[in-house]
Amino acid sequence: MDPKILILGPPGAGKGTQSERLATEFDVEHVTTGDALRNNKDRDIGHLDLEYDTPGEYMDRGELVPDAVVDAMVEEALSGADGFVLDGYPRNDDQAAALEGMTDLDVVLYLSVSEAELVDRLTGRRVCADCGANFHVAYSPPKADGVCDKCGGELTQREDDTEEVVRERLEVYHDDTEPVLERYAGHDGYVEVDGERAPDDVWQDVREAVRKNA
Ligand code: AMP
Repeated sequence: MDPKILILGPPGAGKGTQSERLATEFDVEHVTTGDALRNNKDRDIGHLDLEYDTPGEYMDRGELVPDAVVDAMVEEALSGADGFVLDGYPRNDDQAAALEGMTDLDVVLYLSVSEAELVDRLTGRRVCADCGANFHVAYSPPKADGVCDKCGGELTQREDDTEEVVRERLEVYHDDTEPVLERYAGHDGYVEVDGERAPDDVWQDVREAVRKNA
C-alpha cells in the first residue's frame, strides 16, 4: 500500500521541498493546497457569498481561503490518490476535522523552524515563473541574477512573500494552525523533525520517518 503522509509546519518550513522529494521517493501524489489555490487565484467564488469573490484576495492579504473552498479541493484530490503527501492542509481545526472524515493517515510529519528563520527564508525566496523552482537570494542564489538555473525562466517574488504579508501569515499560523498540532501529537505515526537545517539533512530524517511508519 502506498503511504498516506501529512506534512505540517509553518510557512517557510520547507514543506514543499520535502513533499516533492517524498512524492518521488515513495511514488505518491503531492497534494498541495497552496499551489492548487495559486493556480485558481482568480476563480470566481462569488456564489458562496463570502467576504471576497476570489481565492487570490485572501491569499494576497495572508489570510486563509475559506474552508468551503479548500475542503472541496482536498476531498477531490484525495479521492483520486492511492498514496499521497498532503502539504498546506489542514490549517485550522475545522479543516482537521474535515480531513478525519476523508481519509486515514500513516505518517504525520511536523517540520519545526524558529520564527526569525522563517521570516528570513520567506522574504528572500524567489520562484521561477515558468517551472516553479525555488531559490533564495542569500542561501541558494541563482547563477545569474533573476534567471532560473533550471529553465532560464524569470525569477519572481510571490506576492505574499513581502515582509508585511509574511508577518500576517505567521500570525495566522500561530492562531489557527498551531493548535491543530495537538490533534496529531498522539498519532502513532507522528514524527517531529528539526527543519532548521540544510534541505538534504532534513530529508534524511523525513525519509527515515516515512520508511519506519508507512
Ligand atoms: P502556502 O503556499 O501553503 O503558503 O499557501 C499560500 C496561501 O494559500 C495561504 O497564505 C492561504 O491564503 C492559502 N491557503 C493554502 N492552503 C490553505 C488552506 N488549507 N486553507 C486556507 N487557505 C489556504
